[in-house]
Amino acid sequence: MATGVERRGSEAAPAQEPAARLANLAGGEWRVPEGEWLEDVDPASGETAALVPLSGAAEVEAAVSAARAALPGWRAVPPQRRARAVLRLREELLRRREELVALVTADMGKTLEDADGEVGRGIESVESAAAIPHLLKGETLEGVAEGVDVETVRQPVGVVAAITPFNFPAMIPLWFLPYAIACGNTFILKPSERDPRPGALIAEIAASIDEIPPGVVNLVHGGRKAVEALLDHDGVDAVSFVGQASTARLIANRCAQTGKRVQALGGAKNSLVVMPDAELSGAVPAILASAFGAAGQRCLAGSVCVAVGDRDRQDAVVGALAEGARGLVTGAGADPETDVCPMVSPEARERIEAALAAAAGDASATVVLDGRCDPGPAGTLIGASIVETSDSGSDLAREELFGPLLTVVRAADLEAALAFVNGSRYGNAGAIFTASGGSARRYREGAEAGMLGVNIGVPAPVAWFPFAGWKDSCDGDLHANGTDAVDFYTRKKVVTSRW
Ligand code: NAD
Repeated sequence: MATGVERRGSEAAPAQEPAARLANLAGGEWRVPEGEWLEDVDPASGETAALVPLSGAAEVEAAVSAARAALPGWRAVPPQRRARAVLRLREELLRRREELVALVTADMGKTLEDADGEVGRGIESVESAAAIPHLLKGETLEGVAEGVDVETVRQPVGVVAAITPFNFPAMIPLWFLPYAIACGNTFILKPSERDPRPGALIAEIAASIDEIPPGVVNLVHGGRKAVEALLDHDGVDAVSFVGQASTARLIANRCAQTGKRVQALGGAKNSLVVMPDAELSGAVPAILASAFGAAGQRCLAGSVCVAVGDRDRQDAVVGALAEGARGLVTGAGADPETDVCPMVSPEARERIEAALAAAAGDASATVVLDGRCDPGPAGTLIGASIVETSDSGSDLAREELFGPLLTVVRAADLEAALAFVNGSRYGNAGAIFTASGGSARRYREGAEAGMLGVNIGVPAPVAWFPFAGWKDSCDGDLHANGTDAVDFYTRKKVVTSRW
């Protein structure tokens, strides 16, 4: 049976075996490359769970050749049959959902409940892509001149590569794979080298489906070297990227230089505005879940709370957040008691500790809750932390820290809150908590971010809508999911005919 892993010194092993050497997939063949390796460490136990090959140009060449070879046959498959193939992918993902969920927790660290939510969201993208015969329909305009009609048709872009981050190792590959292949493209996944096993399992599932021929879905493990080889390869036509803003900009620039279509979704610093009329019993749990779920390692995490109102009300918001956060349990993702899961690596934990230490020595900041604790066997644990700052330009207020650290700033009214929100270079998401339709409307109209919540802490759009970051949270014009995905993965052709 085809498999994406090989145990050291043996032929094949299930994906969860420790120290399995991960294989690349090209044209239906699994191959374990020679060369350098990286350890894939379980962020809860610190144990090495797999060895990740740091692929280079040769492995990328194999994947691109296979994808190009499969392209003519796959794009000729009628859209309704490609839709059926995507529906088979859905069935297999549902059948193996528990396995995928467990792997997300083991590899990335998030709680099982959170991992199940992630996989569910990914499956929704598959469901959305299954509507492809409708989504691919063109337009016609009859009689633009005597006997002349105009029509648009959509054709696949070609070979597309997806380069994905560590924090949603199943959902983000599933933002891209189903739409890309439903549109008639062939696909190469380069998952995060920090937790590549869920992405590898998804590729394995796709490759096991008879309706998806070899070469339609390919997999290359690795880091920067593999990405650069993909970006520089003439055989890659389009690139979907998700990761840090600085990496997104690099990817977008390089694709611009080589003439590739690109969508590059970057980092975030999302503000949650709490109006004086907001019911704290609803707002506070929603803010805590947003800030500390997945240990703050979500691009939709609310990482700044803007407490609006007079001093007493602002104090009440800070007090309620601190009280709620103090009760959160830090631990392994597989422990059902855990609220705040491990961070992805000891370096990530150190980054948050350094921010707390800097805040403690900063006259404009107050550490409201210090989550530093025993970092655990993998050196990755740090509890929920809250820091207040009066410096709206500080790193605490403006930079993505990507950990369980919530910054609080104060604002006298909604206009002051909006001025703070819109001072960010990021524009991924944000939310307002209020009992006033007028305040919600003003916020919706004025907030410069692409995904807004009203009384919702994590405003993640369902898959039938675009994942619509603005500003430095997204380079490129088309977003992931929904009709944006179809626009990204197809080229329009306009045909003018006289008969
Ligand atoms: P990252 O940028 O470090 O890595 C993302 C991918 O890029 C990985 O596959 C990695 O191998 C590759 N990569 C990293 N550095 C590279 C380089 N110099 N050259 C070429 N390739 C490189 O991101 P991460 O730390 O894995 O993910 C977390 C980040 O992703 C956060 O900033 C988060 O906000 C962001 N994110 C954004 C969204 C969104 O929708 N906007 C969604 C999820 C995550």
